[in-house]
Amino acid sequence: MEGWRVFVLRLGHRPERDKRVTTHVLLVARAFGAHGAFYTGERDEKVEESIRKVVNSWGGSFTVEFAGDWAGKIREWKRSGGEVIHLTMYGLPLSEVIEEIRRSGRDKLVVVGSEKVPRLVYDLADWNVSVTSQPHSEVGALSVFLHELYMGQELKREFENAKIKIIPQARGKKVVRVS
Ligand code: SAM
Repeated sequence: MEGWRVFVLRLGHRPERDKRVTTHVLLVARAFGAHGAFYTGERDEKVEESIRKVVNSWGGSFTVEFAGDWAGKIREWKRSGGEVIHLTMYGLPLSEVIEEIRRSGRDKLVVVGSEKVPRLVYDLADWNVSVTSQPHSEVGALSVFLHELYMGQELKREFENAKIKIIPQARGKKVVRVS
């Protein structure tokens, strides 16, 4: 066990525009070892419901919560002793900072944007971290960040209280009911 917990903060969700991408951010967060996520922008019960259904069937205790005030959430996280890592192509290269972040022992709030990210996020973050200095996606950035943070151990994780699970196959699909 690492001794710290990881939550993701997804900024600026708009149901019409971001439904799929926000869902993918949350699915990646869960599958790659985060404990839960917050999202800001507009409340979207459909997205929340779809993640809760995944947790119910596939296990684990991942939580999703709407946060009305992103700056308030970041400040609250810092006040309670956690650190804030903002993923941005303008930040310091992941490979240069990941070890220090991993070693810090503090709970981690990983912030990803959607459209333009306000300047205040850069200022409030303890770390602005880039996953390459090229523009790509919050889904890609989050996947690689979590993979490096957990040093690949998240790939072997079993989810507790799952109702269904996959038995990996070289070809074809095998899904079994486990509870
Ligand atoms: N134009 C936006 C801005 O002002 O930052 C970024 C849009 S990008 C589609 C959405 C999010 O993906 C960013 O806020 C960031 O969290 C993430 N992202 C994209 N490229 C990244 C990179 N190279 N490194 C880290 N995060 C990245």
